[in-house]
Amino acid sequence: GSTIGILGGGQLGRMLAVSAAQLGYRCHVFAPEKVSVAAEVSAEFTSAKWTDQAAMARFGEACDVVTYEFENVPVAPLAAIPAEKLHPPTRALEAAQDRLAEKNFVTDLGGSPAPFAKVDSDEDLASAIERIGTPGILKTRRDGYDGKGQWRIMDRREAEGMRLPGDSLVYEGFVRFTCEFSVILVRGRDGEVRFWDSAHNTHENGILAHSSLPAPAIVGEQVEAARKLARDAADALGYVGVLTCEFFATEAGPVFNEMAPRVHNSGHWTIEGAATSQFENHIRAICGLPLGDTATTARKVDMANIIGAAAGDWQHWLEQGDAHLHLYGKGEAREGRKMGHVTLLER
Ligand code: ATP
Ligand code: MG
Ligand code: MG
Repeated sequence: GSTIGILGGGQLGRMLAVSAAQLGYRCHVFAPEKVSVAAEVSAEFTSAKWTDQAAMARFGEACDVVTYEFENVPVAPLAAIPAEKLHPPTRALEAAQDRLAEKNFVTDLGGSPAPFAKVDSDEDLASAIERIGTPGILKTRRDGYDGKGQWRIMDRREAEGMRLPGDSLVYEGFVRFTCEFSVILVRGRDGEVRFWDSAHNTHENGILAHSSLPAPAIVGEQVEAARKLARDAADALGYVGVLTCEFFATEAGPVFNEMAPRVHNSGHWTIEGAATSQFENHIRAICGLPLGDTATTARKVDMANIIGAAAGDWQHWLEQGDAHLHLYGKGEAREGRKMGHVTLLER
């Protein structure tokens, strides 16, 4: 069989590797950490710095296709891998790694992010607040996840007393949303696009807590416009694989939040709740296989993340019918760390 390379060593890689194994592929994980929950279920593991060009080149040679489970892989070292092996293409990483580039990309496609401004200095922040107003959120342009690298600014005076946490930031207006949802699509090598149903996502402390279906009616009203934007983004990038776009449903229509060029936590429910999971369809897409049916197969779905110390209390899920427990095999249950998830279905 062929070997699939996975850049990144976390739980998304682990679930990709499980799906790949089911289809007869072997996986080779490349990640900077010494211990990887993705590598533990894969055939090969290269533990090396992202910038180790020689290791990256050997990895590229050892793999037939290469994909990502982590969108912040530095792009320059990926030049050591033949571009035709990389799915999605590196320009999808570039578009998604920088919140400013991402918002400009989506705006050019006709999408509507929250009002935003680049902030590199105190003066930039003052003029951003002048134009956009408060409340708003100051975010690092790069490397943020699970709400890390974000500072809420409730009023002007708060901003005046503030020391800028860095110099590559973006300020965005606070969106008064009715709810949040994500569009998850898979695009094949031939350009075919399929969508899963859009779940209603709720966050706690900036971290996804639940993804549920069916979503509130407003999501149904706005999903078509959101899907069009997500599809246009995928087409523009020549995308192959699973792409996720997060949206706020507002009275003025869907507001784009951010995109992830990969499988996504808000799609974990598709493992048991859809005909074909996001993980399997990602593997199918990058390997050039026909895409699977994305239809939801349950009347109701609720995916709950198991975060931090809550991971100590999972046994009861095993006693509940149609509860599907996933534990990622991470050692220490640090606060805010995603340790597993459980998907509850009503058929
Ligand atoms: P992820 O783990 O999804 O990559 P992230 O760290 O990139 O998260 P965002 O998606 O930017 O963070 O923000 C996390 C959450 O904070 C959002 O899902 C939303 O609930 C809230 N949030 C972020 N930006 C805004 C905004 N402009 N207006 C209102 N709420 C916001
Ligand atoms: Mg993000
Ligand atoms: Mg997000």
